[in-house]
Amino acid sequence: MIIKDPNTIYYEEAALNYELGQMLHKKYENLEWIKIENHNNIPVLRQKANSEFAKMKQDIIIAVRKTHKFVPNQKTSDYLVPYTSSGCSASCLYCYLVCNYNKCSYLRIFVNREQMLTKIILAAEKSEKELTFEIGSNSDLVLENTITGNLDWTIENFGKAKKGHITLPTKFDMVDSLLTLNHNGRTTIRMSVNPKEIISKVEFGTSSLKERIMAVNKLHEAGYKVGLLIAPVIILPNWKELYLELLAQLQQLLSEKAKVNIPVEVIFMTYSYIHRAINKEAFPKAIDLYDKETMTGRGMGKYCYKKEIRDDGESFLRDAILKYLPKAKIEYIV
Ligand code: SF4
Repeated sequence: MIIKDPNTIYYEEAALNYELGQMLHKKYENLEWIKIENHNNIPVLRQKANSEFAKMKQDIIIAVRKTHKFVPNQKTSDYLVPYTSSGCSASCLYCYLVCNYNKCSYLRIFVNREQMLTKIILAAEKSEKELTFEIGSNSDLVLENTITGNLDWTIENFGKAKKGHITLPTKFDMVDSLLTLNHNGRTTIRMSVNPKEIISKVEFGTSSLKERIMAVNKLHEAGYKVGLLIAPVIILPNWKELYLELLAQLQQLLSEKAKVNIPVEVIFMTYSYIHRAINKEAFPKAIDLYDKETMTGRGMGKYCYKKEIRDDGESFLRDAILKYLPKAKIEYIV
């Protein structure tokens, strides 16, 4: 997948004191650079209408990360770690980042990567048990890597550490630069997949299903630990048909070696009032993911699928995964 250059760059002056900030300044010297006080509050972007959401996603923000708090996690890692970016240039209609950042969920790149990685390495080395750090819960690091090279740098440097693992999800296939790195078996890349039709109607600006599956094969061949995230599961009228088609494609296109013991996470979609408000104005022709027949409120303006629909979905997907990917390992379905 080819990624185009950003439109405008908003930057904190302090970011230019860092090597990465200077590299980006040189790389994008022909673009418009606008100085900002603080990446968390850019009045000129905040004031924009929801209808400009897609256009705002073509801008990037370059800043220094000030918050480095690790959040304990119970799923595939021990901690969620704020890392080198938050937000994203793609525009999936359900993107969880919209709940945190509203229409300001554009890509923010943080240039103080040495500080962030050192903190992870020290925590890993101090711990008696082997810790796993989720570094991609706030952005898509494979996409960010095409701009910064941060993921290449992180994998190589974390590979030299004595202990611990890092893990990240992605919806992108631009993994070629990762294949020759000395990852030392310490990095897991979990590919998020959805049926072809959902990718084209809902996950705007991401890699195709086929590209994603090929990327999993390449990463596995290069010795990485890989995983599949069937997420988010979206209950459309023909959803069972679509997900069976997805599993059949995974069965057909994943390499035999990659299929063995591949961990599979399944997450049903959560949607929200904020998504509805933004999507209605930003993507008026897109499908409406809110369905009052299948969804129910779960507080804080969020919606999830009704219990009976979700339970039926879970048992359907468990059976289907077992049928199409019998060697896979279902980690959880939530
Ligand atoms: S690729 Fe991930 S982070 Fe980017 S818009 Fe889609 S869901 Fe959000």
